[in-house]
Amino acid sequence: MYPDDAPIGDAYLTHEAVQAILERQKNLCAGCSVSLDAGSTHFDLWRPAICGGPRTLGNLAALCPSCHRNHMRRIREEFADHKNK
Ligand SMILES: [Zn+2]
Repeated sequence: MYPDDAPIGDAYLTHEAVQAILERQKNLCAGCSVSLDAGSTHFDLWRPAICGGPRTLGNLAALCPSCHRNHMRRIREEFADHKNK
């Protein structure tokens, strides 16, 4: 029903998309495999759009707050690298 290359919108994830991601990850964080809690789960593009990542369901990851912070930092560093090249 939701293939991995299904495009996602720019604004909000649908409830179905969220469910598909959580199901794929068995409700575990993509970074550290901790059990995700519905109230504090972050959804983000695993491969950021600024680095050529597609806005598709397959490129989205559910992360715990701590991995999300690390992920954001990693993206900022990658982006800084891009600009320096
Ligand atoms: Zn995590």
